[in-house]
Amino acid sequence: MSEPKRFARKGRIAAPTPRDYAVSMQTELHNKWQQVLARDARQDGRFVFAVRTTGVFCRPSCPSRRPRRDSVEFFAGPREAERAGYRACLRCKPTQISEQAQYVLRARQLLDNAEGVVTLAELSKRVGLSPFHLQRLFKRATGLSPREYQSARRMQHIKAGLRKGEDVTTALYDAGFGSPSRLYENANQQFGMTPGTYRRGGEGATITFGIAPTPLGRMLVAATERGLCAVRFGESATELERDLREEFHAAELHRDDAAMGRYIEHLLANLRGENTTIDLPLDIRATAFQKKVWETLRQIPRGETRSYTDVAREIGDPNAVRAVARACASNPVAIAVPCHRVVRSDGELAGYRWGVERKKKLLEAEQAGS
Ligand SMILES: [Zn+2]
Repeated sequence: MSEPKRFARKGRIAAPTPRDYAVSMQTELHNKWQQVLARDARQDGRFVFAVRTTGVFCRPSCPSRRPRRDSVEFFAGPREAERAGYRACLRCKPTQISEQAQYVLRARQLLDNAEGVVTLAELSKRVGLSPFHLQRLFKRATGLSPREYQSARRMQHIKAGLRKGEDVTTALYDAGFGSPSRLYENANQQFGMTPGTYRRGGEGATITFGIAPTPLGRMLVAATERGLCAVRFGESATELERDLREEFHAAELHRDDAAMGRYIEHLLANLRGENTTIDLPLDIRATAFQKKVWETLRQIPRGETRSYTDVAREIGDPNAVRAVARACASNPVAIAVPCHRVVRSDGELAGYRWGVERKKKLLEAEQAGS
């Protein structure tokens, strides 16, 4: 497969592409089917599956024999399945949700609609169950504590532009994680994906930025209170600032070079070869696919390069070479996610969002061991 020579010119933080959406849909259906095969009771109440050959729909944990995959259809709930002409299974009674499940459902609805963080105490008061019982029921049903659930819910915004109003579990599975707890582990690690922060235009976010001279030209470094959201190179500070303001037009932006000193110093030290890994919190929005690519890029050691094909293979999607190139081109944080370490299979440098000359200089410096 030939690799793309050109990159998108410059970017806003990329919106998910139709391809990412298709991939996530497949992942979601695949996950649901796995949950049905596993008779996963934690999924009860989240969706039902219907069997075309029998005309019956069941909750995921139904003890009945499993149908063939190709005769199964999934629905968000009993109502949707009934509307499509299916009857409720008499064995697992998917229309009857237990009293316990209703507490959990109510708690989830409250959390889903809450604006800020809801404490366990507040939640238990509103649901009408003791904190202890609520925590236990909630965790058993969702795999997460209410607090973890709220954090995980932030990840839902990865897909915010795509699918409004979806429940968090589905969104989490959409994000490409196998189970809610794994998801949660990942949520707060490398990429601090938060709701609010990356709504279109950075609405509601406060972003501080600084600009410093570097051997590669001016470097703009911007961060929210949670971490880096932009690292860019350019010739002029004015232009860098203008582009940032354009992209985050709805955010509150402040230039404060001193406040950004810690970030700038860390990145400059990396450019000088004084630290080999960049250990800064990131606050960037990513699709599941971009996240996989960017995490893989962060594993490429300084002084080495990989081809787009290598990265595609690494993420287990060997045909996604072009999508990998697009993900590299849409990297919002230069150096912190070292997209410059990805080159074409024939050794050509290919493009770089901040100019191929800069890519060349960066790689030369890294390969020279500086
Ligand atoms: Zn059933």
